[in-house]
Amino acid sequence: MFLPLVLIFSSSPFSLGQAPLPLAVNTWPFKSASAAAWSVLRSGGSVLDAVEKGCSRCEQEQCDGSVGFGGSPDESGETTLDAMIMNGNTMEVGAVADLRRIKNAIGVARAVMERTEHTMLVGESASVFAENMGFVAEDLTTNTSLNIFSQWLKGNCQPNYRKNVSPDSSKSCGPYRPEAGLTQKRARPVNIHSHDTIGLIALDGNGHVAAGTSTNGLNHKVPGRVGDSPIIGAGAYADSSAGAAAATGDGDIMMRFLPSYLAVELMRAGADPSAACKSAISRIKRHYSDFFGAIICANITGHYGAACNKAPSLAEFHYMVSNPQSDTPTLKSVDCF
Ligand code: ASP
Repeated sequence: MFLPLVLIFSSSPFSLGQAPLPLAVNTWPFKSASAAAWSVLRSGGSVLDAVEKGCSRCEQEQCDGSVGFGGSPDESGETTLDAMIMNGNTMEVGAVADLRRIKNAIGVARAVMERTEHTMLVGESASVFAENMGFVAEDLTTNTSLNIFSQWLKGNCQPNYRKNVSPDSSKSCGPYRPEAGLTQKRARPVNIHSHDTIGLIALDGNGHVAAGTSTNGLNHKVPGRVGDSPIIGAGAYADSSAGAAAATGDGDIMMRFLPSYLAVELMRAGADPSAACKSAISRIKRHYSDFFGAIICANITGHYGAACNKAPSLAEFHYMVSNPQSDTPTLKSVDCF
């Protein structure tokens, strides 16, 4: 049934007036990433530089072990990276997925945007491109990721993302073959301990918006798995005529709903950032009531918000905000619903 937009949003608070700009908002309590983005913005730097600097700070510091090298080893023990950056003025995007041996995934994403006519490069070829562009190739494995991997092997490869295979992936390691029939239902092993992407939104005083993400995905993923973070409209979206959003959580589920795109479109139609974030989460919740995930949103007047789905390991979601009001990164939180 067609509902006029005015009805759909009639319960949403509208943003009134201009909030202080510039503004940087990022997922999770990644304070130094926020500080890196803020120092670019407060000195008059570009929103793209702010997004890149913030995300790359997390890559260097291995935020929560789930951004950058040495985290989330896949089934073969390798760390691979996903990242994207979007320019909300030009709608240009650069993204990399399943990137190997290069630490600075957000830098490579930006190089895809600025040094090719493409939008996304993946896997081995993305790494070759990165090397050609001057990025250093190095092993992303650390003692920590080796240890996570060997514990996983010792524990019969649990948790595990395979299903409908033989031997039974809930009890045994592979190699796996397809099982006759598609009967297995697996509980998804995604929780607060298995991941945390940095998603970062930046707005300057001239109405320019950008967004980006960087992550090493999920622990024990099947090699080749790409999450939501580098997918445009899923991991992040930016449009300087509406706003920006960035998501974190169970990317295999969340990318099916393009929550960042949805949130930006809702803000374009007049929804307050908190209401837009909530609607994007609600859309996923209708199908996957206990999915693990959160989203941050900001509109072009400098108002921002966040929302998260209440899950066994997520009651409250923390995120960082920097703007001239505090002139220092401030921790914010929202109760999940
Ligand atoms: N969304 C990321 C992924 O699924 C993980 C995360 O945000 O924590 O790859």
